[in-house]
Amino acid sequence: MGEVVITRFAPSPTGYLHLGHAYSALFSYSAARQGNGGRFLLRLEDIDFTRCRADFEEALLEDLAWLGLEWETPVRRQSEHLDAYVKVAEGLRERGLLYPCFCTRKDILREIELAGGAPHGAEGPLYPGICRELSADEQESRIAAGEEHALRLDLGKALASIGPDALTWHDLGRETITAEPERLGDAVLVRKDIGTSYHLAVVWDDALQGITRVTRGEDLFEATHLHRVLQALLGLPVPEYHHHGLICDAKGQRLAKRDESETLRSLRNGGETPEAIRSRLGFEF
Ligand code: GLU
Repeated sequence: MGEVVITRFAPSPTGYLHLGHAYSALFSYSAARQGNGGRFLLRLEDIDFTRCRADFEEALLEDLAWLGLEWETPVRRQSEHLDAYVKVAEGLRERGLLYPCFCTRKDILREIELAGGAPHGAEGPLYPGICRELSADEQESRIAAGEEHALRLDLGKALASIGPDALTWHDLGRETITAEPERLGDAVLVRKDIGTSYHLAVVWDDALQGITRVTRGEDLFEATHLHRVLQALLGLPVPEYHHHGLICDAKGQRLAKRDESETLRSLRNGGETPEAIRSRLGFEF
């Protein structure tokens, strides 16, 4: 008997779910059902109060139930656990692994231009390190003056504190992957606007909820390089990962929340059944 597979679907209520989300949710649900006594959890990643909305959350729950999914309750809502993420960030900061970054997007672009470019990472040019070397005095006085700031991971220090062993993870359908966190550089772990970040919250919650297999779209593959570092820093277990392909529209473009025609709502209003959608996406149950 294999290990129990515990998966989750972790949408952000920032729009209506479309076929791509349906695929991701069904992918996760099926993985749990195939496992012996597997469990499927739903988690609402609603920390970004600048974009999340209660009506989207309501619609999301309704659409998933309509699609035929069942999940355990209570559902974890990240917005109810902000204190926990703040505490995790404070712990990393006390260990000297985070530094305040006062840069605006404009400051970063200007610096990159002045330097004649910056190494390109997985998600665009890497942060050129402007605030990494600020003295403690300067950091303190700028914070005391009320300057807004994010907290970035000092990747060099983080890797030094982890030690020389390679960080790896098992990615189903690929192989064993060795983390290359340099691809993300000094990532923001605490955003200035929301007081935490997707990266910090997702890694913490996956461990807390005992997720054994993280299933999600390939668009988040790069983020896993950073997530693996956070697991090592925080002493968290490493789940297996399964990054799946993305559903595209007729033009081969990845579906986005703005593509109204492919939302589950509009398909349903157009007379599609959950069975038809499941089978169109390759999931029969
Ligand atoms: N909340 C993220 C999103 O909606 C997904 C998180 C994950 O699966 O790791 O894109």
